[in-house]
Amino acid sequence: MKKITFPHMADMYVPVRAFFQELGFETVVPPAISKKTLDLGVKYSPEFACLPFKINLGNFIEALERGAEIIVMGGGCGPCRFGYYAEVQEAILRELGYSFEMFVIEPGLFSNYKRIRNVFGNIPFHRLLPAARMAWKKAAAIDEIYRLVLKMRACEKKPGQVNKIYDAFIGEIDNTVSVDKIRLIKKEYEEKIKDSKAEYKRGIEIRIAIVGEIYLVLEPFVNLEIERRLGELGVVVERELYITNWLLDFLNLSGERKLMERAAGKYLANFVGGHGQDSIGHAVIYAEKAFDGVIQLAPFTCMPEIISRSILPVVSREEGIPVLSLFFDEHSADTGIQTRLEAFVDLLERRKILQEGSFCESR
Ligand code: SF4
Repeated sequence: MKKITFPHMADMYVPVRAFFQELGFETVVPPAISKKTLDLGVKYSPEFACLPFKINLGNFIEALERGAEIIVMGGGCGPCRFGYYAEVQEAILRELGYSFEMFVIEPGLFSNYKRIRNVFGNIPFHRLLPAARMAWKKAAAIDEIYRLVLKMRACEKKPGQVNKIYDAFIGEIDNTVSVDKIRLIKKEYEEKIKDSKAEYKRGIEIRIAIVGEIYLVLEPFVNLEIERRLGELGVVVERELYITNWLLDFLNLSGERKLMERAAGKYLANFVGGHGQDSIGHAVIYAEKAFDGVIQLAPFTCMPEIISRSILPVVSREEGIPVLSLFFDEHSADTGIQTRLEAFVDLLERRKILQEGSFCESR
């Protein structure tokens, strides 16, 4: 059996590994993203490539060095560069002398099934279903627990308590091979996280929504752990982008897209690639839900997010919600991000206290 690898993106390796293991394949999970991954990606990528491209290339080099033989990568179609990622990465890796097969997952459920047979052999359909079920259950449990983590970091009893519980949860979910056990593990950890609740660290609830390009939103290494930083600052974080939501959308099985498109319509009526339109639509939806602020995350040179960044100030003014846009590349540094986050959160807190007319009482 050939060894399979795939890009590293947050905890996505857990369901992806489960899927291939259920089918009897061995997987080579790329090591957690590090400075070495980034340096490798930067060294061999075109300078103008977006940051996720570089990190994924670094992932693949590290996995191929550990014996991976098949690379599984997402594909897509215009208008942004994502649709070319796999082909360009494949060409670079071959030029570097690596020997491997590449399987590109294209949008649409059935177009992929035919091609799966070419790369992975004749896997009977009845074996695919339980594997997909196991992977989906794990992904859904992870997303559900992480939603809670984003809320509860802002009011945990002890600093770092929620992160520790979440890490233990990921370990257990990764190790289980029983679908029934996933539900029990999820329930157990949900209770543990809820038990860690105390007062809000800032004395009031500040809610920030994260929008932007999917890789920057989901992968803590590249966004410099922005969600953890916000939690430590006492902020409740929410977002719409999760692996399960993205998968449903990617396979054309999601009903949420219509709501987002309707919300974005007044400002950006067309699809512009990536999650550019989603950033606008979700910013409007979060303003309607009376969130205190929105943070847009994107890689430097990301075309769809550059479009939405130019529109977000108008959304901010008309919908009455403060928006902070943060663009990242390989030179982004902790201190700059921390300072901007602290300033933004202080602004939101002061704004909220003034709006609620409780400035004097709360000081
Ligand atoms: S969405 Fe942005 S970062 Fe992602 S591939 Fe397209 S241009 Fe690059």
